[in-house]
Amino acid sequence: MLDRFSRKIEYMRISVTDRCNLRCRYCMGDGIRLLPMADILTYEEIIDVAKAALSLGITKFRITGGEPLVRKGCTDLISNLKNLPGTEQVLITTNGVLLEDSLKSLMDAGTDGINVSLDTLDRERFRYITGFDALEKVTRGIKKAVDTGIPIKVNSVLQPGVNDDEWKDLAEIARDLPIDVRFIEMMPIGEGARYESVSNDELREKIVTAYPGYEADNRVHGNGPAKYIKIKGFKGSIGLISAIHNRFCSSCNRIRLTSTGKLKPCLCYGETLDVREILRDPRSENREQKLLRAIKESVMMKPEMHCFEEKSNITEISGMSAIGG
Ligand code: SAM
Ligand code: SF4
Repeated sequence: MLDRFSRKIEYMRISVTDRCNLRCRYCMGDGIRLLPMADILTYEEIIDVAKAALSLGITKFRITGGEPLVRKGCTDLISNLKNLPGTEQVLITTNGVLLEDSLKSLMDAGTDGINVSLDTLDRERFRYITGFDALEKVTRGIKKAVDTGIPIKVNSVLQPGVNDDEWKDLAEIARDLPIDVRFIEMMPIGEGARYESVSNDELREKIVTAYPGYEADNRVHGNGPAKYIKIKGFKGSIGLISAIHNRFCSSCNRIRLTSTGKLKPCLCYGETLDVREILRDPRSENREQKLLRAIKESVMMKPEMHCFEEKSNITEISGMSAIGG
């Protein structure tokens, strides 16, 4: 469906849990308070929201978290979403720690693509950023996933003085493997507000200087706002997701469903619409109608643009692990 600014909204990010097996400093930090399990939508409730979304033309879903693969039955949810009439794509974003173990079920479920978050290729830095010694597991999972032929993207958040010197090593993943490597600017949401962002404009300059044989890559790579560069001889492309330095709101195509059943029109703002209330109201007679109305309303609530560059206007107070990135 179209929103007030004639943008086609066809993509829903679904956070299935706020739990995670890592503790990335800029996302969860140490002192995170987990939500009561009773507040988290059941898979049946998620399917009901997806059915309503599908009837409004939202046909692509991304499963995220927290870490989606820590929630039991996550791949069954993917399979059930894939089987809904009208579903075009079901994708997942994961930290990769459980990728190796879940790969077969992800494939059997018909997952259309996997994004793996990986900020460093250095074991000690991985431990520093995420709190866990799991780099090897993640890289093993990525390699095995590539062997299956499923489309894989690597997402990296660079931080000045922490891992920004690794941009080239991370980009080089795309040389030998058919993986798109995307650099995401740090967004001032939740814990991320306490961290500095690397400018993707500056990063782009570094990339094109280091690899003169590059060209803009305007092929459609997915449902997101990344701008891609193709480097000669590389199997994958390099993507830049520049939330701060290059506003991409005019092409925004998404709404978010948080793990507690809030429809979220924009990352920047705290305004949400509660569908859990509708789903769990025992007296509700026209539940389907109410769900449809709530989704339509949340699409119509989408603002024209975010306000990341004016931090005082940001009204979102939840952390990324609760929202789903
Ligand atoms: N646990 C999964 C993972 O790490 O891929 C999925 C959820 S995580 C919240 C999704 C993405 O959000 C990750 O790529 C993570 O790096 C990114 N992220 C978290 N906090 C962020 C922030 N403040 N700014 C930009 N990206 C952030
Ligand atoms: Fe967990 Fe993903 Fe957040 Fe890291 S970025 S703490 S892996 S939810």
